[in-house]
Amino acid sequence: MTTEKFEKDARTVHKFIQLYCDQKHKNAQKIEGFIELNYKNKVLGEIQYNLCNECEKTLKISYNNLLNCPHNEKPSCRKCPAPCYEKTDWKKVASIMKYSGMQMGLLKIRKLFKIGKG
Ligand SMILES: [Zn+2]
Repeated sequence: MTTEKFEKDARTVHKFIQLYCDQKHKNAQKIEGFIELNYKNKVLGEIQYNLCNECEKTLKISYNNLLNCPHNEKPSCRKCPAPCYEKTDWKKVASIMKYSGMQMGLLKIRKLFKIGKG
């Protein structure tokens, strides 16, 4: 895949996991860290995160899978003919994406109608 697509996907995955951890693991001890975005021998910047132990692991698994994705045109992981996630990891990632996707949708709607604190 292109470096642009890689960076975009990596940042999206982080955004989703970060939101999930912020809301679901409020009281967990958080680890601050960063991942250097490095694709095709090109450094694209870094992703800074503040996640609990478990979510940090999930982020790193997702990042590595993305890094090693063999597809030129990366399909949606859900439709991938050769999934690279272990089943248990995939279940976790899928539920995070579902949860955060819904939260982001709600945020958008709230902003649109100016409901709540935005
Ligand atoms: Zn977490």
